[in-house]
Amino acid sequence: MESSLEELKHCVGWSEEEERALRALHGEASPHLPRIAMALSAAILSHEGAKQSLTDGEDPIDNLGARLERWLDQLLRGPWDEAYYQSRCRVGRWFVRSGLPQHRLFCVMNAVRRELVSFAAESYPSHPKSLSAACLALGHVLDLELAIVLRTYREDLERLSTVGQLVGAVGHDLRNPLGVIETSVFLLRNRAVEDERTKKHLERISEQVGVANGIILDLLDIIRNKPLVKERVKLDAIVEEAARAIALPQAVILASDGIAGLEVDGSPVQLRRLFDNLLTNAVQAASPSGEVRVRGSRVKDEVVIAVEDSGRGVDEATARRLFEPLTTTKDSGVGLGLALVKRIVARHGGTVAYERCAGGGARFVVCLPAGKRSPQQDSGQPVLPP
Ligand code: ADP
Repeated sequence: MESSLEELKHCVGWSEEEERALRALHGEASPHLPRIAMALSAAILSHEGAKQSLTDGEDPIDNLGARLERWLDQLLRGPWDEAYYQSRCRVGRWFVRSGLPQHRLFCVMNAVRRELVSFAAESYPSHPKSLSAACLALGHVLDLELAIVLRTYREDLERLSTVGQLVGAVGHDLRNPLGVIETSVFLLRNRAVEDERTKKHLERISEQVGVANGIILDLLDIIRNKPLVKERVKLDAIVEEAARAIALPQAVILASDGIAGLEVDGSPVQLRRLFDNLLTNAVQAASPSGEVRVRGSRVKDEVVIAVEDSGRGVDEATARRLFEPLTTTKDSGVGLGLALVKRIVARHGGTVAYERCAGGGARFVVCLPAGKRSPQQDSGQPVLPP
């Protein structure tokens, strides 16, 4: 049976002739690899989408130039064996983790192709045969790269779909028993219960059913890919609804600034969940006493909303994996809130980023494409009446 690598080589029409041409080109290119890698790094980073995924993703790359140099060296020198395949799979998994969309991968590979073909043309100015052999071999080895990386994307999708199916089934099945508990608690609460402790426990049950329902909703939202039904949404109303639903400790102030008049085209239900999650985290971080502020502004065609708190901010290790599912530092946390926030923002064509506030607290900045009407500024009203 063919190994995965052999199968892919077969697919792209790999031969020993190509290996010879690549090694010959490596001989020419070796002293110039730092320069080619720098040019390539600049070409990749000049593409805004690719730059964002590679440098601001969940696992940002550092020193792209040096990494590309090693990558190019291995690409041209070989050997194109199982170890090569495994190291290229690791690169692929990194692309998947950094959230680089598949179509951007083609832009990256195109930049590689352009740089290497133009280097080959410089190296063989009067050897058309060597030049054409080098170009052919480059075509094949870059096809092989693409095939390997795309395979890791597919494996990732398959894994996600299996996990997704399981989560969907369990989540769905849990909603029925939770619904029954909710109804029973409702009926019991309506009977005049004298005993204070019983009352308290019924309240707790009801509160925890709410928490469990929230987790299931987050999970189902993360795995489902229902098309967004968009409408014009007023952000101040959404933020206010989310703020009202939060259990706000007495000594935590929640205020907004500049969100009146800001509108986006989106799903009110999803945007509500976005602010539910950001505000819940911010209020928890600012507790037992502190401040949470939602600042809105319009910058060109974008609406920018920052949720800031006076808590301790996010530590460095957590910050690196902040938007990944199951990242949590809380005893009773699940780690789905920010993964969901990221997904909702992306589905609305926007971005979300974490910054540290000057005072040390956390600031989550959400940018969304603005709806068409122009905003009016408000005057720093508290979100909740005092
Ligand atoms: P959960 O709240 O269940 O832990 P989230 O995805 O909402 O899941 O948050 C993930 C982690 O990010 C939290 O456990 C916490 O460590 C960190 N975090 C999120 N928001 C804040 C914040 N405003 N201040 C400090 N840390 C935060």
